[in-house]
Amino acid sequence: MPVPGEDGKGVQNTMPTRILVADDEDTLRRVVSEVLSDDGHQVTAVGSGEEALEAFRESPANIVITDIVMKKLSGLDLLKEIKLLDPDAIVILMTSHASIETATSALRSGAYDFLIKPFEDLEVISAVVNRAVDKVRLLSDNKSLMQDLKRNAEELENLNRDLREMAIHDGLTGLHNYRFFRDALEVEVARAKRHDRIFSVIYMDVDNFKQYNDTHGHPAGDELLKTLAQILRKRSRASSICARYGGEEFVVLLPETDKDGALQYAEVIRRTVAEHPFPGRETQPLGFVSLSLGVAAFPTDGDDTKALLGHADRALYRAKNEGRNRLFG
Ligand code: GH3
Ligand code: MG
Ligand code: MG
Repeated sequence: MPVPGEDGKGVQNTMPTRILVADDEDTLRRVVSEVLSDDGHQVTAVGSGEEALEAFRESPANIVITDIVMKKLSGLDLLKEIKLLDPDAIVILMTSHASIETATSALRSGAYDFLIKPFEDLEVISAVVNRAVDKVRLLSDNKSLMQDLKRNAEELENLNRDLREMAIHDGLTGLHNYRFFRDALEVEVARAKRHDRIFSVIYMDVDNFKQYNDTHGHPAGDELLKTLAQILRKRSRASSICARYGGEEFVVLLPETDKDGALQYAEVIRRTVAEHPFPGRETQPLGFVSLSLGVAAFPTDGDDTKALLGHADRALYRAKNEGRNRLFG
């Protein structure tokens, strides 16, 4: 077997090439097999087309060298069957001078090359097969390159998707983030103006959250924020956009919802949170975890993002000033 790198071709694919030889003439089969084994290939030799097909099914060879004229399953039939099993398999046909036309037509039907019997020079066998071996290696290198490319493209696609998700979501709660909300609000304002639609926004802020953190620790505070996000998600329509606006502040955009609808929704959220058994809630000033909320409706409370958010913000601070755990619009 040639040592990789010593044949002048550099170290490539060092796996031996698997070659299947089919010929019903014993001597010829043996000669071909010996030449190829000496060349370092892994050779299996069989005496008929049927045996060749069976051997190929059991363990596909890279290259099949077959006599054309054999009883029952001919070399051409074998060629067809093998191409069905593996379109990349390389088939070399052996033929006598007399049937050179058959050989050319075989090339047309997918044979890679042909060898003419009897062999005047055994070197010809090596030469033809070596060319086929190069082709096998090229094919396999190509295949693994394509697989690498495909894998890389998939990884890149996944990374991009993750990045896109990360860019618009809040890492702690999984809700949308401030940036996404601001963009969505711009779009909603434009849409509502153009189509004469309504919508509302609700600001909400956890009451005395600093105290909760101070009493129970920052990780417990994180858990509270996550639970709060779950409550918002559960209580919102799919068309609503819930976002973490920052720290312990959240915001919800309610499309097609008027002020009354938004106030009702805000009240449901306020009550649900007030009633939720957050761990350690009894140490909060009211004896439970609460939210203050501010509601603004388009276009009554403002017809651009600044005016709307300003209104919701003032309403929220009024709720804070008047004792927390309440909402205004
Ligand atoms: P108020 O009723 O006036 O809203 O009082 P408050 O204590 O909730 O408000 P304040 O702005 O004084 O404190 C907010 C706290 O929220 C302070 C900050 O450490 C905490 N906080 C902000 N982001 C996070 C977070 O991601 N995790 C945790 N655990 N705490 C956070
Ligand atoms: Mg707060
Ligand atoms: Mg705050």
